[in-house]
Amino acid sequence: MASVTSSELMAKIVSLCKRRGFIFQSSEIYGGLNSCYDYGPLGAELKNNLKQSWMNAMVREHDNIEGLDSSILMHPKIWEASGHVANFVDPLVDCKTCKGRFRADQLEMATCGLKPSKTPKTCGGEFTEARSFNLMFKTFMGALEDQSAVVYLRPETAQGIYVNFLNVMSTSRQKIPFGIAQIGKAFRNEITPGNFIFRTREFEQMEMQYFVKPGQDEAELERWKEIRLKWHLDLGLKANKLRFHQHGPKELAHYAKAAFDIQYEFPFGWQEIEGLHNRSDFDLGNHQQASSKKLGVFDEETKSTYTPYIIETSVGCDRVLLTTLVDAYDEETMAGDDEGPRVVLRLSPKIAPVKAVVLPLMKKEGLPERAEKIMADLRKNWRVQYDESGSIGKRYRRADEAGTPFAITVDQEAGTVTVRERDSMKQERISESNVVEYLRKFLN
Ligand code: ATP
Repeated sequence: MASVTSSELMAKIVSLCKRRGFIFQSSEIYGGLNSCYDYGPLGAELKNNLKQSWMNAMVREHDNIEGLDSSILMHPKIWEASGHVANFVDPLVDCKTCKGRFRADQLEMATCGLKPSKTPKTCGGEFTEARSFNLMFKTFMGALEDQSAVVYLRPETAQGIYVNFLNVMSTSRQKIPFGIAQIGKAFRNEITPGNFIFRTREFEQMEMQYFVKPGQDEAELERWKEIRLKWHLDLGLKANKLRFHQHGPKELAHYAKAAFDIQYEFPFGWQEIEGLHNRSDFDLGNHQQASSKKLGVFDEETKSTYTPYIIETSVGCDRVLLTTLVDAYDEETMAGDDEGPRVVLRLSPKIAPVKAVVLPLMKKEGLPERAEKIMADLRKNWRVQYDESGSIGKRYRRADEAGTPFAITVDQEAGTVTVRERDSMKQERISESNVVEYLRKFLN
């Protein structure tokens, strides 16, 4: 891709997302709601594919990992026991000069309200002392709006897993070590949301909590680091854009004994896309104490009861989706083309929202009928689209921008079609009856 600045690249991705129906600003017709986004037709497909890939990698590929779908609203005591009421805080500073409000530990990621080319650190503004700001959204349950009716929108899905630990273990007859995987919405009243869907106040997490015997936690954390990195690589992300970052003592969350982030190099720098934590017995221990319910496990070998340790893998679905878009976005200048560079999303076929587009060369001579027959076969297997409007070149470009890996063109040569591959643009003529089998090689 010809060199573009990092902010230009993000602007191009945001514009593509809107233009092609990946992502829209929430409440757009009312002027938009800051940091909230809606997934359009292509975005919803891409997101579903990512979720499916994660669930398969967790539950289908591991006999000892079970799925769960717990509620967003939970007993408020859960958030006291988990430490979130006291500790889920970020340091907040106000700028007396521009009246902006910023996260004190992330000033380099924000922009000054008066001097947009500067960060709050470098703009010369006068700051207040940092104070703690709790990130949990509060609401009321029932008709009374008083303190006794306060409930929280969950800031992570993990707690729903911990409080169901015994339910899942006993009903699925699992034994330690085993895991529980869940995908669901989480809410954080972030001080400085931004960078499109990178940091929002409502987002979706994919979390797997793995329960192990104390003493096996460190080895399990190492094992899960490798498994999770491989998942990101299997999505097609470039290896040189991924790395681990180990949390130093000051970075560790209140529940963590050790933590690693998987980071990706975004146009705005290296940032976390997934967190892996050794949460020790912090969570089950605290819930056991606060609820007075026994959450220990009996060890047949030692004939004693212990509280399992937890290895957590937690990845933001929206953040991974942004990562796949950033990683896949490309522009290619083509010789003799006066339409400008070809924009192509080089998404892995496994996660591409639409797997193939079927293009009758003309709207006559029986070509649409042959194309419709191919559509009917493909539709049984994958999400595919039909496109008969505009020149064939324009139609290829539309498909390239949407990340559609294959374009099947039906022309006058009866019994055969051409298949064009998105990245190489190479075309191959194959038998019309062989299209499903041909694509299956690449898609499954
Ligand atoms: P950060 O340091 O970026 O605030 P975190 O360390 O608080 O993230 P975790 O609590 O470990 O994040 O959450 C696990 C994952 O959830 C993150 O790696 C990220 O992918 C996702 N995530 C967390 N907060 C947000 C958010 N505000 N918007 C979108 N995704 C988020």
